[in-house]
Amino acid sequence: MTDQRRNLYFYYHQKTELQDKLEALFQLARDNDFQIVENSKDANIVIAVGGDGAFLQAVRKTGFRQDCLYVGIRSENEAGLYCDFNIDDHDEMIEAMKNAEVEVRRFPVIDTTINDESTFSCLNECSVRSTLIKSIVIDVYIDDLHFETFRGDGLIIATPTGSTAYNKSINGAVVDPKLPCFQISELASLNNNRYRTLGSSFILSGERTLNLKVRQDGNDYPIIGMDNEAFSIRNIHDVTVNLSEKVIKTVKLKNNTYWDRVKRTFL
Ligand code: NAP
Ligand code: MN
Repeated sequence: MTDQRRNLYFYYHQKTELQDKLEALFQLARDNDFQIVENSKDANIVIAVGGDGAFLQAVRKTGFRQDCLYVGIRSENEAGLYCDFNIDDHDEMIEAMKNAEVEVRRFPVIDTTINDESTFSCLNECSVRSTLIKSIVIDVYIDDLHFETFRGDGLIIATPTGSTAYNKSINGAVVDPKLPCFQISELASLNNNRYRTLGSSFILSGERTLNLKVRQDGNDYPIIGMDNEAFSIRNIHDVTVNLSEKVIKTVKLKNNTYWDRVKRTFL
């Protein structure tokens, strides 16, 4: 990697069984003239150790930095869609460190604005779900078009890399992250002669705006999930989703395209 990128920040959960492997990793970094910094603000490479959940947290806790490269290292039994390295495979890491021309890949991010007030970025998805037993009613607008009125458990708005997570569990399509877009999928919609929704997932171009108006009918206590964090405030009435100008940059290794990782994880 280039000389400017020598400050590493490690993000991981304190687990004793990982400690030895982490120490070996730190030593490997020092032996290769990297510096390990204690404050993520001083880093130009943020390394998440764990699995996809750890990667999502590392990105969120460091504020979706645009001047940083993110690297995922998986310890065993994690999915690793965001993880290019295995914690035990030091050779591969050394190879990547030596290669000054490591390519960078960019993952799309979505921005979610709640009640026209606060905006949050998401790398996997934004989920809007009812917290009550009753169904939630949401008017769905695409740009200025009133597209449908949703009644059911909620809606999931996924990025391309988030398409293999929650989105996939509810039969959404897996989307190539080279496409700047986002996907909307339903959680248990009511469909009958009174209530009608599209019923299938749909994918919007990154130039479009999705606007969700939560009907204030006494069942308007949605919980908003941003990747693996919950955002619960009362009186959420408006959720707007756009493709962000931000992207998450990760290293691109040989023989490890997005579709290699999808195949490795699911097939
Ligand atoms: P979790 O409940 O431990 O995550 C569920 C699983 O999703 C984990 O195995 C996790 O992998 C995996 N995962 C996360 N991002 C992924 C991605 N982009 N592609 C494929 N698999 C992915 O919670 P978590 O680890 O903090 O992850 C948060 C994510 O869980 C949320 O963003 C949401 O997508 C997903 N989730 C899924 C469901 C569902 O499928 N019904 C419900 C709630 C949340 P690791 O084991 O490597 O962490
Ligand atoms: Mn997890």
